[in-house]
Amino acid sequence: MDEVVALASELIRIDTTNTGEPSGTRGERLAAEYVAERLEDAGYETTYVESGAPGRGNVIARLRGADEERGALLVHSHLDVVPAEPSEWSVHPFSGEVSGGYVWGRGAVDMKHMVAMSLAVARRFRRDGVVPPRDLVFAYLADEEAGGVNGAGWLVRHRPELFDGVTEAISEVGGFSLTVGDGVRAYLVETAEKGVGWLRLHTRGTPGHGSLLHTDNAVARLAAAVTRLDAHEFPLMLTPPVRDFLAGVSDLTGVPFDEDDDPAKVLGRLGSVARMIGATLRDTANVTMFSAGYKDNVVPSTASAIFDCRLLPDREEAFLREVDAVVGPGVEREWKSMPSVSTTFDGTLVDAMTAAITAEDPDARLLPYMLSAGTDAKAFQRLGIRHLGFAPLRLPPDLDFTALFHGIDERVPVDGLLFGTRVLDRFLRMC
Ligand SMILES: [Zn+2]
Repeated sequence: MDEVVALASELIRIDTTNTGEPSGTRGERLAAEYVAERLEDAGYETTYVESGAPGRGNVIARLRGADEERGALLVHSHLDVVPAEPSEWSVHPFSGEVSGGYVWGRGAVDMKHMVAMSLAVARRFRRDGVVPPRDLVFAYLADEEAGGVNGAGWLVRHRPELFDGVTEAISEVGGFSLTVGDGVRAYLVETAEKGVGWLRLHTRGTPGHGSLLHTDNAVARLAAAVTRLDAHEFPLMLTPPVRDFLAGVSDLTGVPFDEDDDPAKVLGRLGSVARMIGATLRDTANVTMFSAGYKDNVVPSTASAIFDCRLLPDREEAFLREVDAVVGPGVEREWKSMPSVSTTFDGTLVDAMTAAITAEDPDARLLPYMLSAGTDAKAFQRLGIRHLGFAPLRLPPDLDFTALFHGIDERVPVDGLLFGTRVLDRFLRMC
């Protein structure tokens, strides 16, 4: 069995569930030690850092490149995974089973496949004495699934010297193939990701006995505001990566891309990926929590609700103005946010990606796209590091890839993993 397959399977067997609560989070130290041992075994010096809290393990190693003048490339992956409920799965989510042409388990695509691929390539480079064109910094991180507070975010704040000289980075979520048109594979490279906002709405009213007349009910006013905001559609805005993506799909499928009339028409040809791309055409606000009351015959004095908001670049001010107008008077709001990320789809790094993919899949097309969610790229952006989501994978046309992220029966095709490792190897030799 190829090393990368064994690495992916073994990494999945280390349960690194991140519940977002310190008490429920486990395994990151074990996984970090596993990675560090394999890097050291190949000849690397590694730095092991527990960030924030005990057990939140991160590993960093650097491979010197030929040109010291050029900025380094960071290749980062997160070691943690979201929880999985074994009774819902066909195989145990932490079995790392290899069967039917897949490696199965939580983290197979988010993102232990990239941990395994980059580890396999890093080991080979060191063993074979490969000198990449510029410094490569390999980082394996904790806590991405809870916002990176104890991982990338912590390291950027407390150990920025580990990333000295780094100008660009690759990581999730991109590099995977999407079959469009007549069997043409497009490989989606993430050039942007939406900002994340945490919106809390809060109302106050006159409390009292549930049997009396009430015209100032905090729960009712909040419920009405939540319903209005939920029904509100934020304006459609075509940002450069989304426009380029839609134009590219139109080109590959022949479905016209009508920017003014119906820009989303080409999404119909994308299958399940349309859900993700569709979410990058506008800001979104989804209510996720609602709390009020403590007894069935008491009108409470307060109520609150939380919305998960995802914003297009440069939209924060306008978004909040719109929220205020929609929820109306008598509703207080609190707001916390993490910025969007975006870069252009050009330059030597993109050229190297294109060359590496097409060397393995000659008819492939690379398309930029915007991720509707957020990644550790947000933390590294604070160090001025440019992000491109590129964890190459060739996928079968019928696999619902986006459903596998945090989904049941998460799995990665063995031949996709082998393909991805070959592409990553080529890419890092010319990056
Ligand atoms: Zn991830």
